Amino acid sequence: MTQVAVFNTKAFDREFLEPQFTLQGIEPVFFEARLCEETVAMAKGFDVVSAFVNDDLNGKVIWGLAGLGCRLIALRCAGFNNVDIEKAKDIGIQVVRVPDYSPQAVAEHTFGLILALNRRIHRAHNRVREGNFSLDGLLGFDLCRATIGIVGTGKIGSCVARIAAGFGSNVLLHDKLEAPELAQYGAYCSPEQLFACSDIVTLHCPLTPETHHLIDSEVISTMQPGVMLINTSRGGLVDTKAIIRGLKSKKIGALGLDVYEEEADLFFVDHSESILQDDTFSRLLTFPNVLITSHQAFFTREALEEIACTTANSIHLWTRGKTIPSERLCT
Ligand code: NAD
Repeated sequence: MTQVAVFNTKAFDREFLEPQFTLQGIEPVFFEARLCEETVAMAKGFDVVSAFVNDDLNGKVIWGLAGLGCRLIALRCAGFNNVDIEKAKDIGIQVVRVPDYSPQAVAEHTFGLILALNRRIHRAHNRVREGNFSLDGLLGFDLCRATIGIVGTGKIGSCVARIAAGFGSNVLLHDKLEAPELAQYGAYCSPEQLFACSDIVTLHCPLTPETHHLIDSEVISTMQPGVMLINTSRGGLVDTKAIIRGLKSKKIGALGLDVYEEEADLFFVDHSESILQDDTFSRLLTFPNVLITSHQAFFTREALEEIACTTANSIHLWTRGKTIPSERLCT
């Protein structure tokens, strides 16, 4: 039976992964640790390693894995910006991912953030619990009259476009590759036009060298005063320090984040008994108009089932020398 080193797992991951792996004749060996330079030695003796979104598979880790005999890395996520793909290719390690587990889950969470920020639901909840029934400071706006700008109209962005159109919002779209079927939900335009005209800007493109700090001080200066910015894609798409300046000047009126540039040492872990060492993140938490979730947009039952099923299937196909569907290959 093929044994797989499955890194960065919590009890909820195991609950979904174990039955799917068993079904495919694979024996998972679960590690709680993140896969990174400090933990790579734990992969000794495994042909196949499975990793998650905040594991750090840099060149040294890939090199280390190759030395320990690893030949397949099965990512349990869609993005692969955390893997040195070139190094893996050079060394001959195949990297596969789960390209499409539930774009709806991420799109729905995006709207969770938009609705909560717009109607200040997070603040209202706290107030009511403390017996404060005042409405001061809770004023929102009609989504049906707002313009929502969507950057990246792939699987997740197109779901966001459909939901936005359902609210009756005016929808602006931008992508390197336009999808004609989305014309019924919104209009494609240049990024400049999108940033200048949107009341809400939501990011759904991948993190690449080209999109790193896509939202910086210069771009923020071109946005609507009081714009709501939402990032459920990858932290590196926004320059967090520029965002903080935008919040302080009130250029940014609301910020919803499910991802953060330096999230790897922070998210998915209970740090409630320790002192936060990240001053930038701590500053973000001081704004009343900032709502942060810890990379949970994907976190639905259906998504976890699909992640487990696709990951187990890719490993199964690889061990039998069968063709893995091309959209799962990271190249
Ligand atoms: P996708 O590949 O289907 O769509 C991405 C789109 O971005 C593509 O249409 C692509 O053409 C476009 N794009 C690429 N570069 C661009 C650029 N410079 N400007 C404008 N558009 C550009 O991917 P997806 O499944 O929709 O996922 C999008 C991202 O969401 C992933 O890369 C991942 O980082 C993130 N994600 C987050 C979570 C979460 O839980 N928060 C879960 C899954 C995915």
